[in-house]
Amino acid sequence: MAGCRFHRKTRHSVDYEPTLEFARECDAADPLGGYREQFHFPALGTREMAYFSGHSLGLQPKTVRAAVELELDEWAKYGVEGHFHSTNPWLSFHELLTPAMADLVGGKESEVVCMNSLTTNIHLLFVSFYRPTAERYKIISEAKMFPSDRYLLETQAQFHGFDPDDAIIEIAPPDGEFLIREEDILAAIEQHADELAMVFFGGVNYFTGQLFDMPKLTGAAHAAGAIAAFDLAHAAGNVPLALHDWDVDFAAWCSYKYLNSSPGNVGGIFVHERHGRRFDLPRFGGWWGHDKATRFQMQPGFQPMEGAEGWQLSNVPILGMAAMKASLELFAEAGMPALRAKSEKLTGYLEYTVDQLSAGFPDAGIGVITPRDPTQRGCQLSINCAGRERELYDEMLALGVIADFREPCIIRMAPVPLYNSFEDVHTFGRVMRELLAQG
Ligand SMILES: *Cc1c(COP(=O)(O)O)cnc(C)c1O
Repeated sequence: MAGCRFHRKTRHSVDYEPTLEFARECDAADPLGGYREQFHFPALGTREMAYFSGHSLGLQPKTVRAAVELELDEWAKYGVEGHFHSTNPWLSFHELLTPAMADLVGGKESEVVCMNSLTTNIHLLFVSFYRPTAERYKIISEAKMFPSDRYLLETQAQFHGFDPDDAIIEIAPPDGEFLIREEDILAAIEQHADELAMVFFGGVNYFTGQLFDMPKLTGAAHAAGAIAAFDLAHAAGNVPLALHDWDVDFAAWCSYKYLNSSPGNVGGIFVHERHGRRFDLPRFGGWWGHDKATRFQMQPGFQPMEGAEGWQLSNVPILGMAAMKASLELFAEAGMPALRAKSEKLTGYLEYTVDQLSAGFPDAGIGVITPRDPTQRGCQLSINCAGRERELYDEMLALGVIADFREPCIIRMAPVPLYNSFEDVHTFGRVMRELLAQG
């Protein structure tokens, strides 16, 4: 089998071809191709669907079932003693997840912990890091952010006695455009430097797939005397991250999107080590964040642990954590550099496929709104389908392609390097051509 023909013409273009043969050659040459078999794919009849919704819910790794069953067996066998005697003692189960998770986000192990859910975690981190004063209380964030984050910012501002419309500065794309300009963010940070408490952005915007320059935003926030924080729901497991080196203050993410850990499972947090011993920071305490050495003395007087673990509240849900452990093992094995390399090629192929559709059906209004520059995106492409809207998406689904539709007219597609194939992208192109040809 001939190798996949990735001849780079220019920095951003590869010699893709529209044929099924080409897609299959790419899959045969893909060093990560074997991971696909380790996932369960939804099926239409007997045929596996082309799944592009890893940005919303990652597929189930086949190893998850045994990992969860192991804990069920241990629970049956040991009852409460499983905290100490099970194969992976529950008492310290969360520690098993930390090395792989820290590696994924570029944090030290002391800076990362898995706990709670995403929105909960950001609220908890705001308790410590959003300390507004009468002069310095504003938060710069992106317009059209994920609604949970927007509600979080509104209610945090109100909780501290501020008017959200005054406290939250949203950076919007220029009129008629989808993407936010970095220079507009930087200008706003400078303009509001004296009254800025925090810069809070999604690392990758859920709607457009735009990846922001986190090190640059962090530097600008710090220069203004503000905290730099990121919601990495769409970045963790999708793009390379180096939170420690970038000097980010804190970040949080969920594990059920690109990290395939099961619906609604526990999230992760990062707190930079310079804050890890700041016991002066206000926190909402719980026994799992209390100093391990004295936790079981059950005495009053909250003494937080050092590092990110000092923000924990509760003992962890073992069944969910077991699923996450199995999933993170696949990431650790595949490695983010290899995943990113494939991701750029695979997303490039989707981009090429959409461009072909757009050229073939110029009246269909089909086009990519995500940045064309691979350094400004992860694997997700958001596709404008202005002419057809929702019906096109429903028809795609009926023909075996799962993506995601957002009002008013955007289909969000994530070709995920861990389990998607070039043939999946080809299938999408074929289905769309059929649908668009029907008019
Ligand atoms: C998915 C997502 C959430 C979901 O929050 P949960 O608390 O896990 O329900 C929040 N914010 C962003 C940016 C997301 O993409």
